[in-house]
Amino acid sequence: MFVPALDPGGPPDRSSVVVTVAAAGVAIRSGIPPEGAVFVGAIGDRQCWAVDVEELAGPDPGALDLRLLWAEVDQATWTAAGRAVQLVGWARTHRFCGRCGNPTEEVRGLRARRCPRCGLEAFPRLSPAVICLVERGDGTVLLARGPQFAAGTFSCLAGFVEPGETLEEAVAREVREEVAIEVSAIRYFDSQPWPFPHSLMIGFTAKWRSGDIEVDGTEITEASWYSPSDLPGLPSAISIARRLIDDWLDRVGH
Ligand SMILES: [Zn+2]
Repeated sequence: MFVPALDPGGPPDRSSVVVTVAAAGVAIRSGIPPEGAVFVGAIGDRQCWAVDVEELAGPDPGALDLRLLWAEVDQATWTAAGRAVQLVGWARTHRFCGRCGNPTEEVRGLRARRCPRCGLEAFPRLSPAVICLVERGDGTVLLARGPQFAAGTFSCLAGFVEPGETLEEAVAREVREEVAIEVSAIRYFDSQPWPFPHSLMIGFTAKWRSGDIEVDGTEITEASWYSPSDLPGLPSAISIARRLIDDWLDRVGH
């Protein structure tokens, strides 16, 4: 199990997990982290540290894209690596104050960076996104694909939450915008940190209320109602989308 934390509670030892974050991906090894490493949290009783090697010349031969890493390590290590990527990415993009342009400094005892000139504080950025499996009374679900999807793969609808709206309002709006369907009975399912690059996916189920599918043609290029016996290619088990679909299949007895 991985527990995110700010304070390591003691010095690192040789069993510490060190996540090296390079441009090409991450590399994971055991050992004492170098000076300047950022504490990520604990994987069981092992400390986990992140190291930013953006400045290193040439690619790290051991570095793996975070998506590929998923198949290589256990869930706790993958979640820790995702947090390492997000913390390093945040530090890289918040070196200067967004208000006055002055260099920022780390704040002791807080996961934050502060501008010593104007006092503006920046916290690790999280972009909440909703993802929803829409079910219809005839036992089918709405699955869709966008232009960037792997060939033949269909998934749930998803989108970022706008400032000023609730999660449920974001679900209703995204479904309406992408496929022109109105939904009701929007229910929370589960959530998942999604470090690509700094999202939090919040999963929902909903029921079709009205409308015929009409794709927006940009975010969604194809969408249809599918029954359990006639499913298209599904997303990999890395994502909460697949868990939403698998949960539905369990519920309808497939
Ligand atoms: Zn400032």
